[in-house]
Amino acid sequence: MILITGGAGYIGSHTVIELINAGYDIIVYDNFSNSSHEAIKRMEQIAGQPIKVVDADIKDKAKLRETFKNYSINAVIHFAGLKAVGESMQKPLKYYNNNISGSICLFEIMSEFGCKKIVFSSSATVYGEPRSLPISENFPLSATNPYGRSKLFIEDILRDIAISDNGWKILLLRYFNPVGAHTSALIGEDPNGIPNNLMPFISQVAVGKREYLSIFGDDYDTPDGTGVRDYIHVVDLAQGHLKALQKIDDIQGTVAVNLGTGKGYSVLDMVGAFEKASGKKISYKIVKRRLGDIAVCYANPSFAKEFLGWEAKLDLAKMCEDTWRWQSKNPKGYDTIHQA
Ligand code: NAD
Ligand code: UDP
Repeated sequence: MILITGGAGYIGSHTVIELINAGYDIIVYDNFSNSSHEAIKRMEQIAGQPIKVVDADIKDKAKLRETFKNYSINAVIHFAGLKAVGESMQKPLKYYNNNISGSICLFEIMSEFGCKKIVFSSSATVYGEPRSLPISENFPLSATNPYGRSKLFIEDILRDIAISDNGWKILLLRYFNPVGAHTSALIGEDPNGIPNNLMPFISQVAVGKREYLSIFGDDYDTPDGTGVRDYIHVVDLAQGHLKALQKIDDIQGTVAVNLGTGKGYSVLDMVGAFEKASGKKISYKIVKRRLGDIAVCYANPSFAKEFLGWEAKLDLAKMCEDTWRWQSKNPKGYDTIHQA
């Protein structure tokens, strides 16, 4: 049995589907602080089977202990965490408490039950401002905000755990920019309030929920002056987790792997691709740079291919088509969590 913390969320829900399709027995552990029970219903519809769910917080050690007692859990995929960079700067303690204290509770209970295999959701944000491109796993690590620091601390904690006990098998998956949705349009990204990320913002403009996109700067040292990122389809990302689980028995200690496509697209590229996929005009205004943004970020994905036998397959057109199908069929998302 695989325990999936945060399994009702955006990336977790897509990963649950890929794991069930591959024949894994899974259980979702989520407190629904940023997700909805409707997502679970939709996941059950896609999977064609009921999904076991524990509605609880990872900080609740008694509930974690009960879950490990009730099920024979041999590995954990740990998605649970808060992820809004801006909010983390306003409320650092909330982020440190939820992400770091929560992860420590989880790791303690895993130790207690001798469960020493974990796949952790890290982020390209741990590379800070990269000195060169593309970004490889051995680049220096740094963080510029509490969210990023929480990811870096958890990576460090896991590295220390692995040093202290060589029974641990730990995969740190560093995601680049996940976008897109399941092709069924039953599950997708359902941001709470005004989206911070580019793709959900563009799709809300396309569907008429927002008037225009603010593009944060057109004076970067990039071909069209707007920021460049490595967007990856969430289904590709979910399949990366499947490969990670299949590989985890072979590793010892901690291994970090980039999950990206290796291709960089600018904000204007994204606007153009989304207009093409949706047939809608995306109005935009150029505004000043967003504090803390870097100009360009894209992965060197070669280690993921070599080590996990995984590479991203879905292109930008598919990312935009699937985002648009999800957004246009579910203009209010799951409609059960707070909408701005
Ligand atoms: P999400 O918010 O959709 O999913 C996270 C899930 O964790 C939610 O269902 C939430 O309810 C749950 N959760 C949060 N705190 C919890 C707690 N204390 N106890 C139990 N459940 C809790 O986010 P996502 O986009 O699916 O991201 C999943 C993971 O990947 C996160 O750790 C995030 O930091 C990381 N990540 C995301 C991105 C991205 O752009 N989406 C990029 C890099 C890394
Ligand atoms: N961006 C933008 N307007 C928005 C949101 C994002 O111009 O409303 C830009 C942002 O400056 C960056 C890119 O889009 O260059 C991706 O931003 P996102 O927040 O999605 O990802 P991250 O910056 O965390 O990689």
